[in-house]
Amino acid sequence: MPIDATKPYDDSNIFAKILREEIPCKKVYEDEFALAFHDINPQAPHHVLVIPKGRYVSWDDFSASAPDAEIAGFVRAVGHVAREAGLVGAGYRLLANIGMNAHQEVPHLHVHIFAGQQLGPMLAPR
Ligand code: AMP
Repeated sequence: MPIDATKPYDDSNIFAKILREEIPCKKVYEDEFALAFHDINPQAPHHVLVIPKGRYVSWDDFSASAPDAEIAGFVRAVGHVAREAGLVGAGYRLLANIGMNAHQEVPHLHVHIFAGQQLGPMLAPR
């Protein structure tokens, strides 16, 4: 069920539980600002999610409210995770879904990293 990205942050979301270590994840990277882990239902041979450690519903919330240090730390973490996985040469795709039309399902900002195959057109044909 897509979420309404204008709603306040909900601490019961699944990624908040992963950050609190209440449920496990297949971690690939962690630093002060970000956690990266494998998507539970991969849509490409390489499908990793990167999330900020702060309480942000979406890219909208994050870009409007996060301190500059958190934004810089998170953006650098996304690049680092892709670089460390060796994805730059062949290429990769970043995706952040925001709200209903984008089918955002988890109300904690996450950036998808897709790689490992030809990724096709940016959007499904209409
Ligand atoms: P989105 O539609 O952008 O909100 O994507 C949410 C993503 O979170 C989907 O690709 C799910 O497969 C993924 N996901 C949901 N629960 C988990 C989990 N416990 N661990 C890892 N990935 C998850």
